[in-house]
Formats: sequence, structure tokens, C-alpha cells
Amino acid sequence: VAGLAAAPGARAQGGAEGETTWEPAVARLLTERAAAVLARDREAFLATVDPEAPEPFVENQQRLFDGLASVDLERYDLVLRAEDVRDLSSAVEDDRGADEVRLPAVEVRYRLTDVDDADALDSAWYTFVRRGEEWYVNADTDAVDLGLETNRNLWDFGPVVFTEGTHVVVMSQPGEGARAAALLEIAEEAFDRLGRTLDWPPPPRILLVLPTSTGQLEAMLQTYFDLTNFVAFATSSTDRGDEADGFAWTAPRVYAQEANLSGHSRSFQVETLHHEFVHVVAFDRAGPNVPNWLHEGHADWLALGRGRPTSVAGTDGLLPLDHEFVTGGQPGILRSYRESTSAIAFLAQEKGTAAPSRLFETVGAARVVPGTWRYHVDRALGEVYGAGLDQFEADWNGGR
Ligand SMILES: [Zn+2]
Repeated sequence: VAGLAAAPGARAQGGAEGETTWEPAVARLLTERAAAVLARDREAFLATVDPEAPEPFVENQQRLFDGLASVDLERYDLVLRAEDVRDLSSAVEDDRGADEVRLPAVEVRYRLTDVDDADALDSAWYTFVRRGEEWYVNADTDAVDLGLETNRNLWDFGPVVFTEGTHVVVMSQPGEGARAAALLEIAEEAFDRLGRTLDWPPPPRILLVLPTSTGQLEAMLQTYFDLTNFVAFATSSTDRGDEADGFAWTAPRVYAQEANLSGHSRSFQVETLHHEFVHVVAFDRAGPNVPNWLHEGHADWLALGRGRPTSVAGTDGLLPLDHEFVTGGQPGILRSYRESTSAIAFLAQEKGTAAPSRLFETVGAARVVPGTWRYHVDRALGEVYGAGLDQFEADWNGGR
């Protein structure tokens, strides 16, 4: 599965309520908090937490600090994004006994040393409270009812350890050492296969996250669909930050759904990670118009050994829509993958083994432009296949 999360919210007009003093004060608090993370200064970090916050939140913050302190961070910034979402404090149920309450958008921008060559980007929905002259972080779940969740990482659950290979780094909790080592070996083999099947440049190292429980995975992925249908995930999101064309990808992550993955044969696990690593490399060439059937068909066709098109039991002969990869039950989800793989295999059979990647990058290049995915895929198929989407679909149905 490739998860492509959009950055939240459209930009709202700032300054409508006139000059205030809370924004610079909250920005300063965030700067101190980020500096405390980089300096591994536990006392300074916890000084940013409201002393009157409920005990469970204080404990979460202690655990988060201990987790972050176990990570080698090349960069860690907390950026007030009041121009995106200025203040949702009306969603906060009570005033926390504070003099002032604010809930603006905050961006967590960071890089793991020797792993990331792009920024990772998380959202934090901190409730800030003022007590006298001092501002503090009081909570980070008050916007959940609005569908705005603070992103979680494995380090939210405490210290993490890194098991490092040549091309892959496995991040896990300390008790998972044996599985982390086994998974790293599988991942390195998958990476070697990746290099033999796809000539797009991979990132220097791929981060593979090994959660201890499905609950942790759910907290990190924040998906609306049932994770028990899957074995692994690759994610990246768009970064509208500094890039001149307003379109870049954040540092990719691969997550193992251990409850399922570890029960499969070694060769299936290698295939699975090969598939996810194709997503990781492909993110750089993806755009908002690449449909899931192209993401998944391309990745599966490469990971399964670039086979020939196959007939798919129960198919309706149509290329699956995006939602059919995540909802509708396991048989339907599996069928969507098989249909996509078969369609990509058909393209390769007709136009050569380079055609699927060419189609992917042609559709992916259409980024900040008008037009539906159908329009862009239709045009790209015209270039790569020699006919549009309807004809391609009809030929695929006749040709497998
Ligand atoms: Zn996938």
C-alpha cells in the first residue's frame, strides 16, 4: 500500500483579528522545546509542558522526550503555522483554568541523521495555555474530534533502537532486537532486488519501522481502514514548504504490519518489502494524478518478477478505483491488486519492460496542473501505449 497524505488545510488569511501577543510567545515556546530536543535536555523539554496538565499527558510527554532522545536528529524544528490554521481553541471543552487558550497548527519538521535526505513532516495539534506570563503545552488531542490528530512516531512510545544495514535501517523498540535483525536481512535482500528491477535512484537509506503492536501501527498511520488486511505500508506526504514549484515529497517511511508479515514465508516477506521499496523510490516521481492501480500494479509487477498478464478471477474488467485498494473486504482488495498487476504486465508485454515505469513518470510529472487523473492517465497512455485509457482497458481485457 502506498499512503499519500495531503498536508492539512488551505491557507487562511492571517492577521484578521489584528495584532496579538500570543503568536510570538507561542513561537518562542516552540523554539525552546525544539532546542531542548536537540540538546537532549529533559528538564528544559518538560518545562514547556503545563505543570497543571493531567498526569497522563505529562507521562506521555516524558515518554516522548525519552523516545526522541534515543534518535539521532540532524534537524528538529517546531514551526507555528498560524497562517494555515490560526486558532481552534473554541474546540477545547474547558478553559483548563488558564488565562488564555490557543490551538493553532504546528508543523514538526525533522531529519534523521544518515537516513533522511528530505525533511519528514508531522502535524502537532498542541493546546497552548497561558498562566500569568508563561505559556505551556497543555494537551495534544483536543482537535481529534475535528479530524486533526497529532502525528505519532515509534518514539512516542519510548526509546527506540536502530538496527543498521547497508541500505536499510530498522527502527524498533529495544525488546524487538531478534526480529529487527531478521527483518533487516530480508530488507537488504529486497533492496538488492529493487536495484535489479528499477533503475530510478533510491534514497541513500530506507527507514523501516517495526512496531511492537498493531495498536502502535494504527496510532502512527492514522488510517481509516482496517489494518488487518495488509502486510506492510509505504508512506510519504507532500511538502509545500520551500520548494519553488510548491511540490515535494517528505522523507518516506516503510512500516511492517508484523501481526501479518512475520507469519509469511521468507520469500513472501522479501517480495513484500521489494514492493514497498518500489513505492519509496517511486514517490519522487509520483504526483497527485497517479492512481492507486498504477502505484500498486507497477510495484507488484516489479516485485513479483515482471511476469506476463494473468486472468483475474471475479474481475469486472475495469481498472480498480482508489478506494477499492483499502475498503470492501480482503477478497476485493486482493482482486484490485491482481487486476492492476495484470494490466501493468499487459502494458509491458505490448510495449516493453520499460513501459510501466515510463507511464508512471509521465503521469507523475503532472503535478500542480488542472485535470482529473483520468485525463492525465489518458494522455500518458497515448504517449506510452499509443491509445487512451478506454482502448487500453479493452485491449487488456482481450489480451490476458
Ligand atoms: Zn503497495
